[in-house]
Amino acid sequence: MSAEPLLQAKDVQVHFPGRGGWLGRVRGAVKAVDGVTFDVFRGETLGVVGESGCGKSTLGRALLRLVPPTAGSIHFDGQDVTGLSQRRLRPLRRRMQLVFQDPYASLNPRMTVRDILGEPFDIHGLARGPGEREREVAALLDAMGLPREALGRYPHEFSGGQRQRLGIARAIALRPDLVVADEPISALDVSIQAQIVNLLVDLQRERGLTYVFIAHDLNIVEHVSTRVAVMYLGRIVELAPSAPLYRRPRHPYTQALLASVPVPDPERARTRLLVPGEPPSPLAPPPGCTFHPRCPHAMERCRRESPPLYPLGSGHFAACFLAEGESQQSSTAPRSGGADGVLAQSPSSG
Ligand code: SF4
Repeated sequence: MSAEPLLQAKDVQVHFPGRGGWLGRVRGAVKAVDGVTFDVFRGETLGVVGESGCGKSTLGRALLRLVPPTAGSIHFDGQDVTGLSQRRLRPLRRRMQLVFQDPYASLNPRMTVRDILGEPFDIHGLARGPGEREREVAALLDAMGLPREALGRYPHEFSGGQRQRLGIARAIALRPDLVVADEPISALDVSIQAQIVNLLVDLQRERGLTYVFIAHDLNIVEHVSTRVAVMYLGRIVELAPSAPLYRRPRHPYTQALLASVPVPDPERARTRLLVPGEPPSPLAPPPGCTFHPRCPHAMERCRRESPPLYPLGSGHFAACFLAEGESQQSSTAPRSGGADGVLAQSPSSG
């Protein structure tokens, strides 16, 4: 992993008009992403986890400028892409790609594999003639572990796992720098999931890819991620290198998510905690800490004030007042350099 950020998100917001009542009138804003700041370093995998509706998929699309951010900024490879027109984004598109949750929906059912995988080369004019296009497409099939006979077949002729391999092949066809993988395995059989994860890990190593890996399965995220960001109601509530986050989560929401993962680990069993209720509507988030209606540790202050992301040292941040004391101690402690210094760059919540 490089110390250089490939992607920088600063206070990114994506708000949609919220509609309610039987006339469907606009009533306030749905704060799908509500002030998210982080860097993604070259060659790393940033896992983004949270319950359904927490804003993680919207965030992933905003990073690629597939949905427009309402506020904040996004820099890709040092360039501010926040307000770029579609025309000026086009040359960058091939460097920033998305792998979808449902590969079938992302593959044109009327196109053969040859044309599905050849289309990116056509769009960007990157193959010098049909011979080179065919060689590139065949090489992609080899990298995905799919047979050359697949070239003349259609998406419906493949299994779910094979279709996801085609979706990944299409995403990496033009050798992107950044891949946002939005729940890439959650639609697949458990027996296939590990194969796809291993494929993504191998491709990252071979091609130097940088991933934002969006998932709700904490087991998978632990396996693939360099760092993990936990989202709740449009905000990052905890961000840390993978190992410390799983070993000692600081935010009560992360603790609850981890407690719901069945692992034979007595350390985690001791912290077992169930989150009562459902996440509140992003149209009407609670005041103060938005987690307070579900938090077993909520205090009076939590109902009034929104906690910032407190730095806890070694790149660990948590948006919880319980972490405030530890943060003050850690901010007076000497900071180490090297990778620790890299991970300790300060994201902040909105
Ligand atoms: Fe719970 Fe308060 Fe921490 Fe929010 S700030 S997670 S309500 S203890």
